[in-house]
Amino acid sequence: MDLTRSSYIQATIFSVRLHYDAETEAFRDELRSWIETNLPPADERAEPVLSSAHMPEWARRWQRSLFDAGWLVPGWPPERGGRNATPLQQMVYFEEVARLGVPRTCNPQGLSIIAPSIYDWGTADLQERFALPTLRAEITWCVGMSEPDAGSDLAGLRTRAVVRGDRFIVNGQKVWTSGAHHADWCFCFVRSDPEAPKHSGISVLIIDMKSPGILTRPIPELTDRSHTDFNEVFFTDVEVPEGNLVGELHHGWAIAGGSLAHERGMLWINEVVGIERLIGAAVSLAREHLPGGSRLGDDPHVRSMIADAHIRSQALRLLGYRGFSKFARGEASPEHSVLKLMGSELRRSLALEMAEALGPSGSDLDLAVAPSYGRRDMESWAVHYLQSFAGTIAGGTSEIQRNIIAERVLGLPRR
Ligand SMILES: Cc1cc2nc3c(=O)[nH]c(=O)nc-3n(C[C@H](O)[C@H](O)[C@H](O)COP(=O)(O)OP(=O)(O)OC[C@H]3O[C@@H](n4cnc5c(N)ncnc54)[C@H](O)[C@@H]3O)c2cc1C
Repeated sequence: MDLTRSSYIQATIFSVRLHYDAETEAFRDELRSWIETNLPPADERAEPVLSSAHMPEWARRWQRSLFDAGWLVPGWPPERGGRNATPLQQMVYFEEVARLGVPRTCNPQGLSIIAPSIYDWGTADLQERFALPTLRAEITWCVGMSEPDAGSDLAGLRTRAVVRGDRFIVNGQKVWTSGAHHADWCFCFVRSDPEAPKHSGISVLIIDMKSPGILTRPIPELTDRSHTDFNEVFFTDVEVPEGNLVGELHHGWAIAGGSLAHERGMLWINEVVGIERLIGAAVSLAREHLPGGSRLGDDPHVRSMIADAHIRSQALRLLGYRGFSKFARGEASPEHSVLKLMGSELRRSLALEMAEALGPSGSDLDLAVAPSYGRRDMESWAVHYLQSFAGTIAGGTSEIQRNIIAERVLGLPRR
């Protein structure tokens, strides 16, 4: 073994110091002080957020103030609520927002999926009627993609839209529709041409959730006692004006893939910071004396488990930086699938290990890392464990991520 070379590599590795330049740090400071000055005080934020499309009045005001100040979507131009921030500044933005526990909106699908899609694919009229009011927190949305027989294989969707005169008539069923019972509008994927190959013949319609013929049935969740986010949505002869078609008729498949691309290169840091906060909560708890006097941190298994989670989280952070630098150069960044897979699995395994280490007393021990935005979905390690399955399913299941990594990253043959 060439020791000289090995020590050189070690010295090189250990001398790497990642830091942001002064201009980027100034951007961070400006954001931080704006949030500190403008975030509504805790008593104003007391009214709970009941679902991912429910916006209490204080939350509408907060999102609107982010929009007006150019802090809602900083990478966008000012007229769309941004400040033309560079990709690096946007990454710092997401890092800081996650670190402070300040979500930008109570309707993440409206902000991150639907508004960008309407700007990309919609007419000027749709942009004016729907995208801008979404950014200004005047309307909320749900996304109607999944159906009982169309989830991972979304192209199998069967909710049917037929053109009749100047409108579409929609019949069918969606499932797992987050926030549908509170949303004003549905961004709905429908089959407009059943004769075409399955990835063709799909269209996207904007459907008023108050239309006659829509039945929304909430699905109770294991993790929550007081409210639910999921719904089944049934459409029976629902009329949709032809002007509510997004993009071209039968060309909706392209919209399904493109909507998250805007923030994908930066949003990973949000998840990494979330995991780091979770690990921070585990460390704090491990130092505390539990009822009965013992400390989790005295258990070698717990110590090594938390250390392992920390190492994995830092590996994810570095992988994220690598993906980000490719993204910023305009190159494909398959790291996203690895981050999604490893991040969601790490959350789940940490929550399970902590819940098991705590035993029955764990259900009373607050995590103290819940987003400070009204939702109570992370109140204990046991609840967080149940909640953590969502991250391994939504936005592409772990199995689908493994398929993507096998085929697109490792170049293994398709099954
Ligand atoms: C928190 C959360 C919020 C959601 N919100 C919405 C929403 O607002 N709107 C909406 O439309 N949908 C929503 N969904 C639904 C989500 O998009 C689907 O659950 C997801 O696409 C998986 O589809 P499915 O549940 O039908 O599972 P299926 O696709 O039926 O998969 C079942 C199992 O089979 C595995 N599997 C499937 N295909 C393959 C394959 N090719 N190779 C290997 N394994 C495979 C899957 O990994 C999974 O384990 C949400 C889901 C969650 C968890």
